Order: sequence, then C-alpha cells, then structure tokens
Amino acid sequence: MILLRHPVCGTLRGARSLSTRASAILSSLDIPVGAELPGVYDGQWSGSGEVLESVCPATGEVLARVRSATPDELHEALGKSKEAYLHLRTVPAPKRGELLRQIREALSAKRDVLGALVTLEMGKIKTEGIGEVQEFVDICDYAVGLSRMMNGRVVASERPGHTILEVPNPIGVVGVLTAFNFPVAVYGWNFALSVAAGNANVWKPSPSTPLCSIAVTKIIAGVLEKNGLPGAVSTLITGGKNVGEAIVESRDIPLVSFTGSEAVGRVVGKAVQSRFGKSILELGGNNASIIMPDADMQLAVPAVFFGAIGTAGQRCTSTRRLYLHRAIAPKFLDALQKLYATINVGDPLVDGTLLGPLHTRAAVGIYSDAVQRLRQSGAEILTGGKTYDHAALSQGNFVQPTISIPKTADPADKIWSTETFAPILNVGLFDELEQAIEWNNAVPQGLSSSLWTRDIRNLGKWIGPEGSDAGIVNVNVGTSGAEIGAAFGGNKSTGWGRESGGDAWKQYVRWSACTVNFSDAAPLAQGVDFST
Ligand code: NAD
Repeated sequence: MILLRHPVCGTLRGARSLSTRASAILSSLDIPVGAELPGVYDGQWSGSGEVLESVCPATGEVLARVRSATPDELHEALGKSKEAYLHLRTVPAPKRGELLRQIREALSAKRDVLGALVTLEMGKIKTEGIGEVQEFVDICDYAVGLSRMMNGRVVASERPGHTILEVPNPIGVVGVLTAFNFPVAVYGWNFALSVAAGNANVWKPSPSTPLCSIAVTKIIAGVLEKNGLPGAVSTLITGGKNVGEAIVESRDIPLVSFTGSEAVGRVVGKAVQSRFGKSILELGGNNASIIMPDADMQLAVPAVFFGAIGTAGQRCTSTRRLYLHRAIAPKFLDALQKLYATINVGDPLVDGTLLGPLHTRAAVGIYSDAVQRLRQSGAEILTGGKTYDHAALSQGNFVQPTISIPKTADPADKIWSTETFAPILNVGLFDELEQAIEWNNAVPQGLSSSLWTRDIRNLGKWIGPEGSDAGIVNVNVGTSGAEIGAAFGGNKSTGWGRESGGDAWKQYVRWSACTVNFSDAAPLAQGVDFST
C-alpha cells in the first residue's frame, strides 16, 4: 500500500492569487509575481507573442503567464545572438572560463531556491531539483578547466619544413532545444561547453517550463552584464513548436542540440541534416536493469526502486525494464514491493516526499493507457496501476508507481519496445545472462543499462563487444543519476548524441586542418610532380 504522508498545499486550478508556497520561490529569484512575464532575452527582455502558461503539476495552480516571441522578435533575437558570437569568439578561452566560473558562483548562490523552482514547475522532488542545479554548477567547473585544455594537435608532415596543425575554433551560434524533465541541467551541459568553446547560444526550453529558463537566464545575464559582454551570448526564446522549427531551420545556427522525444528528434535530425547543419540528439530511453543471482540485494533493490520511481519515472534514464534471474526473482520482487509500499507521495517541495506528480494531465492519460494495455494483454499488475483518489492529491497529476509482469518478455512487443514516460516497471525473468543481454539490446532505444553481479566474468561480457549496446553501461549502479564527467548520451533511436563530459566538447567547435610551410620550397604531398 502507498502511504500518503504529506498533504499538498497550494491554490486550486485557475485561482487568481498565487499561493505563498509559489510566490516565495518566485520572489527569491526576482521573478515578478502576478504579472505577465516577457519570455525572450537577447540582451533586453521582450516578448509579445503567444502566451505560455506555467502550471504547477502538484496543485494545478497557474504559476505565471509568459509571453513568447513574435516572428519579428524571434528574428531579431537570432540576429543579436549572431552578433554576440562575433564578439565572444575574440575573447580568449581562459577568459571565457573565468566568465563560466562567475556564472558557476552565481548559480551556486541560488542553488536551493532554483532547485525549488524546478520542483515547483516541473514536479520532481526537492532533492532532485537541487541536484539538477548542482549539475549545472558541476559542468561549469568542468568547463572552467576545459577552457585551458581544448587542445588541438600537431601532426607530423611528410614534407620537409612543413607542419600540420589540427585547430579547434568556435563554431558559431548553437541552438539548444530542451525537454521538460530537466529544465535547467540540459541547458547547462550545452551552455557551459559551448561558451568555453567560444559560441553564443539560443535556448528554446519546453513550453511547459518557461519559469526555470527565465530564472536561469536572469542569473547568467547578470554575470554577462557585469563583464561587459553581450546578453545574447545566452539568448532565450520561449515558445512552442514554431520557435523550435525556426531554430532548426536557421542557416545561422550551425549546431542544434536537441533533447526530447524520439518522434520530434527524428524530425529535427532530418531537418538539420537537410541544410547540412550539425545536430546532437538526446532522445528517449527504455532502460533495463539485469539482476544476476549473485547480485548484492541490499544494493540492487534500492537502486531499482530509485531508478523506476525517481522523478516519478520521468527521467530519460529511468529504469523501465527489469530482468530478474529466475532463481532470485520471488525474493527480489518481494523486497521491491515492500519498498514501494513505504513511498511518501505528495508535495514534492516537502522534505521526505519521494514521489511527486507527473508533469502534465496528458501524461496521466498516457500512464493510464499504458496500464490498460498491460491489463488487456494479460500482464500481472503486482502493485499500482491507478491514479490517486485522495482529496489532497486530486488537483495534481499523481499516479501510483506500478510494477507489472507482462505475459511475454518478447522485446518486439510494444509494451517492451516503447518508452512510456511514467513510473511503470515491467519485469521479465531469464535463465542465462546471454538471454537478458539479448533482450536488453533488442529495443530501438539505447540510452542506459545496468547489470548487478559480483562475478567479474559477467562484468567482462556486459561491457565488451557481446554486451550492452547502450551509451551508458553500468555495473552495480542503477540506470539513472549519471555524473557530468563522462560523455552522456545514448545510441540507436536515442540519437547517438553525447553531451557533458568526455569528448563531448569537440562537437561545439569547427575543426581546421592547417598545413603550414615554413621552408623555401613548396613540394606536393604524395610525391606528386606538377613541374612544367
Ligand atoms: P518533446 O520531444 O515533446 O519536446 C522537446 C522539445 O522540442 C521542446 O522544447 C518542444 O517544444 C520542442 N519541439 C516540439 N516540436 C518541435 C519541432 N517540430 N521542431 C523543433 N522543436 C520542437 O519532449 P518532452 O516531452 O519535453 O521530453 C521528454 C522526452 O525527452 C522523453 O522522450 C525523454 O526520454 C527525452 N529526454 C532525453 C534525454 C537524453 O539525454 N537522452 C534527456 C531528457 C529527456
């Protein structure tokens, strides 16, 4: 049974005055309460286009109305960001690093309240909201170091008196289109590397999380202003599909970094390719944990619990598939269900809440449809499968975390092969690791995966050529909660993109191969003789 421990406070859907719960957070971030907010920033704040409503997923309260860009404002903002790039590219990289250090400090000073805004607007619990801002802080730290380490190469030339350099230079304006579920961190991953590389950025956030983007942009803008740099280094254009399409189609934006669903990513990827732009695609995941009989249950059970229920199942890395070795399946499921029964559901801003709401009403419908499909196909629902009917939760988008055992483990079945962005965990039983790896790899997506074992032979297989084909291949670590140091991203229909650490920065520059002749002769390569 799910225990309800925290009542949700807040005003009812459509109410006029903002709850103290919400207004305290907005005021601490210098966001005017009650007024219609401009949703475009390019050095100046503007916005007289379509109105976006920010709705609290826990209470249904309308938090703010934000004005997006008109086509003219959009055009002007893109022009300003191009000018900002022309300026920023002349600033030495370590000076750009110093700028990022100051942005890091400014974000860190507001970390907790900005985290609370993520919770208020997106719906994830407070510790995860704060953790998301911490990720932005961490990637700034990384990019400060990077600003002195974005090394090119000196390559040996076959010609006497010649040398070859591989030189990274800024690429231009980077378009960053982000999803609702990480309304702060994903921009951070892109922005920090991109600014270190010398680029200006145009951010189009999810239309349902405009407040997070406005708060982040205000913080960044303050630092840019203090340093006498153009605000359009970090341009913000809130809006929906039309704004996204304008960025995707703009020939002034050589690189588009898109985070979102596979369906939209497919359209974006093709559109950018058709104008010979570059794209980074970070799309849907359908992540599996595999539990071997020798796994440490004390560690594996809580990890699966967090992976499946964290952010109410709305992380791209959420655990959606659980493959249990038949020998330990009953014991594992028993322990997991006991944990599910202890979950605190309620206001995600209250300490101790572990389960907040889904982000939108529409997501509740998607959850209910998926559960219905499971039931119709004969799946056994071990726990959950319903929305909450408790009065205190009725204004929010709360759904019960669900564990199901589908009738078949056939990975081609839609139940297994599609990403349902909700806390539904499907369980399959296997006898041999090879079978579990085959199932792990048989779905279209390839973001995250996790194997639980103490046997080094299993580990070797899992991380090697016969192992998981995902971009994240963990051992005794759950599928979600990656650190910024490694390149983050997935393969196959997750889009092959990489962001954050590792070599991800190399995508934010244009590479030049420069052959330099410092001799008194001009020989041709490969011994070609073109003399007359
Ligand atoms: P979404 O695809 O609906 O929207 C993503 C962004 O694309 C939004 O800003 C949206 O306004 C914009 N958009 C919509 N149509 C567009 C178009 N035609 N052209 C350009 N832009 C357009 O995704 P969502 O519901 O906000 O986010 C959830 C999805 O994101 C999930 O599938 C999740 O797995 C994925 N995600 C992936 C990662 C990752 O790193 N792989 C991280 C976070 C979220």
